[in-house]
Amino acid sequence: SDFLRIEGLEASIDDNGSPKPILKGIDLVIPAGEVHAIMGPNGSGKSTLSYVLAGREDYEVTGGSVSFKGQDLLAMEPEERAAAGVFLAFQAPVELPGVNNANFLRTAVNAVRRARGEEEYDAVQFLKAARTKAKALSMPEDLLKRNVNVGFSGGEKKRNEVLQMAMLNPSLAILDETDSGLDIDALRIVAEGVNALRSPSFSALVITHHQRLLDYLVPDKVHVMARGRILRTGGPELAHQLEAEGYASFLAEAA
Ligand code: ADP
Ligand code: MG
Ligand code: MG
Repeated sequence: SDFLRIEGLEASIDDNGSPKPILKGIDLVIPAGEVHAIMGPNGSGKSTLSYVLAGREDYEVTGGSVSFKGQDLLAMEPEERAAAGVFLAFQAPVELPGVNNANFLRTAVNAVRRARGEEEYDAVQFLKAARTKAKALSMPEDLLKRNVNVGFSGGEKKRNEVLQMAMLNPSLAILDETDSGLDIDALRIVAEGVNALRSPSFSALVITHHQRLLDYLVPDKVHVMARGRILRTGGPELAHQLEAEGYASFLAEAA
């Protein structure tokens, strides 16, 4: 069966007491092992889609279905989704003064391991595993000893997030504009982090404005989203077309 299958998904957000429809019938299938990108103008509902998949509670699903590895994803609690391997990367990493980065990462990773019925890492085991992954991601080891994101450069924050993703070993990673405001080096870090996880049992949904990111990532499919719908699906060449022509022609075609 398909790894992630979204059919006719409709969702609203509460807008001062009245439901505001945002997703208006999303159809999207991601087979196991594939990396898909979503591009689209601001306000299309891209973040809404990622929040609905992760199970954020401010959204009401008003139609459609989502199955993930044969399970009804929408019927699962956010923690159950995380335990099933769904990982949503944060758009803006938080700085936590006074909180040790390794301990913070270990707490997050152990919560997921517990939910999966896996043995938790003690401090020594975690550090050993995290150092190995950090090295593979060219991340300076001392970032593990510092306070969470405090004084980290943009690139270091990215590496830290990619490290967290790698330690959680997700089966579906959703990256919602994890690349906004990043320089080319940081785009490569994100791309390399996703590429390092590529396997037949790993899929990713990467929401981005940057065609450059997709040069490093090379998605299997690119989806163009606008006004709560997927307007077009194609290969990586679609991202190049968007870069060259902008969204206007897609919007006109769909209208
Ligand atoms: P994108 O990520 O593609 O920029 P979003 O999913 O963030 O789009 O937003 C889609 C639409 O939903 C936008 O019109 C936005 O203004 C609206 N929206 C998002 N969050 C809220 C909210 N909390 N209350 C009202 N409208 C919202
Ligand atoms: Mg936006
Ligand atoms: Mg967004």
